[in-house]
Amino acid sequence: MKQSQTLIPTMREVPADADIKSHQLLLRAGFIRQSASGVYNFLPLGKRVLNKVEEIVREEMEAAGAVEILMPTLQQAELWQESGRWYTYGPELMRFHDRHNREFALGPTHEEVITSIVRDEIKSYKRLPLTLYQIQTKFRDEKRPRFGLLRGREFIMKDAYSFHTSPDSLDEVYQKLFQAYSNIFRRCGLNFRAVIADSGAMGGKDTHEFMVLSEVGEDTIAYSDTSDYAANIEMAPVITQYEKSDEEVLPKEKVETPHVKTIEEVCSFLKTTPEKCIKSLLFKLDEEDVLVLVRGDHEVNDIKLKNAFNAKNVELASPEDTEKVLGCSIGSLGPVQCKENIKIIADHAIKAMVNSVCGANEEGYHFIHVNVEKDFKVDEFIDIRTILEGDPSPDGKGTIRFAKGIEVGHVFKLGTRYSEAMGATYLDENGKAQPMIMGCYGIGVSRTVAAIAEQFNDDRGLIWPKQISPYDLHLIPVNMKDETQRTVAEELYEALTESRFQVLMDDRKERAGVKFADSDLIGLPIRVTVGKKASEGIVEVKIRNSGEVLEVNRNDLVATLH
Ligand code: ATP
Ligand code: MG
Ligand code: MG
Ligand code: MG
Repeated sequence: MKQSQTLIPTMREVPADADIKSHQLLLRAGFIRQSASGVYNFLPLGKRVLNKVEEIVREEMEAAGAVEILMPTLQQAELWQESGRWYTYGPELMRFHDRHNREFALGPTHEEVITSIVRDEIKSYKRLPLTLYQIQTKFRDEKRPRFGLLRGREFIMKDAYSFHTSPDSLDEVYQKLFQAYSNIFRRCGLNFRAVIADSGAMGGKDTHEFMVLSEVGEDTIAYSDTSDYAANIEMAPVITQYEKSDEEVLPKEKVETPHVKTIEEVCSFLKTTPEKCIKSLLFKLDEEDVLVLVRGDHEVNDIKLKNAFNAKNVELASPEDTEKVLGCSIGSLGPVQCKENIKIIADHAIKAMVNSVCGANEEGYHFIHVNVEKDFKVDEFIDIRTILEGDPSPDGKGTIRFAKGIEVGHVFKLGTRYSEAMGATYLDENGKAQPMIMGCYGIGVSRTVAAIAEQFNDDRGLIWPKQISPYDLHLIPVNMKDETQRTVAEELYEALTESRFQVLMDDRKERAGVKFADSDLIGLPIRVTVGKKASEGIVEVKIRNSGEVLEVNRNDLVATLH
């Protein structure tokens, strides 16, 4: 491709609203342009990188036995009503009416659509297992779209769904896709960890996330320095988004429990210490998080407590107020993430902290509106909450360290959550209808592009790994007005292209300084400069990553690059 014939609008200035490297560089190097908040245009270079990532994804998915389809972005409300998620997904789901006043949504994910396809088309156990995937634009009205492609409101996802007759079959495919994901991110050149994830709003149990290690990551992972253990320390939400109806999750009636606990009892119940409780909680607070402390009946300590935290982040709320926020009673122990950016701590955990932070005297601490056995299962989330840096890892093979991660992939055993709600059944060997067992598997394709840009750059610009780079090499005739340089460059362009190199040639009549600066910014792995020595048949090859330079006879160039 000749640079005069494409669109690579580079910028010298750092765009004001871009605060991380990948966002700045993808804008400056002319890969993307913002169209609206969280909505981006992929310009020619950006599109080529996207294509490269998509091709790797396709190859690995197909190798793992998944088959590509394409589902619609427009999804009718009825499907989401069948699964129940119409009522629980919240404002991230972009909803609208068509001209006949029918309700629709723009797909943030496709469990409903795929379940309806398979429900209609597959009747017998003989046709299972089946894994289908697509690469498609997704819509989520994120509260805070930010960091460019990392958190968009419109973004590209690879989503796959598998259907099974047995948990063993699901396990097998889950393992295969887990391996495919590892291959994909390794081939993208990324430094990543697969971590145990939280089951969140998806309603499943076994789940892993693929995290690119990066300071700008919005997730925090706890990993072992000497073994494979790694987990997202996000809380397992106990009372976040309900999957079915409120009735099924919430206690039928409020129960005033007579449990009276001392702080030691509370902490031993939590298998933690007050110090740990506070430290791990503070660690989890983002700048913009709001921590809602549920006030107990010891108001005297509230101000002190508030002062102990970053005041900006802390709101004090009565149990009644909190019920309004949550729409339910505080049926949980410890800090629980209940809505985006709102973290709730139940009364008793606060008191444990009050005692530790403010040195309150030994009082009784009790649970309000909580029935331990009925309202929650402690084991579901206890181990995540109490992990601290320096602790032994749960597998006993190392020490816990923390790191920030960008979630680029997520694999999930859904079980029968969607098939039961939507009636996706098959007939087993005995002719009996059984709900299909499902898995789902997502990759943020556009987010992966940004994650690569975030991991591979220097002060001068991007440094694309070879297999992801929009072109293999940048061919630069230094002076287009020089007849020899121009001719040599043209001839090399032909020869390289014929040898199947993807070549970007800077045929612009720009100053050398501009061309080199743009070339560093764009970050192709190899630069071939055709300069003064072209008249002697010599060109310069420079490796973007190492800065290594060598002079090569133009006739040996193709062989050298191979
Ligand atoms: P996050 O925790 O970052 O909000 P998620 O857990 O909501 O992501 P999933 O529902 O697991 O996302 O979707 C599958 C993949 O899609 C994610 O692993 C991520 O790589 C990508 N993804 C999700 N939301 C966005 C977004 N707003 N912009 C870009 N990619 C996204
Ligand atoms: Mg999300
Ligand atoms: Mg997530
Ligand atoms: Mg996820």
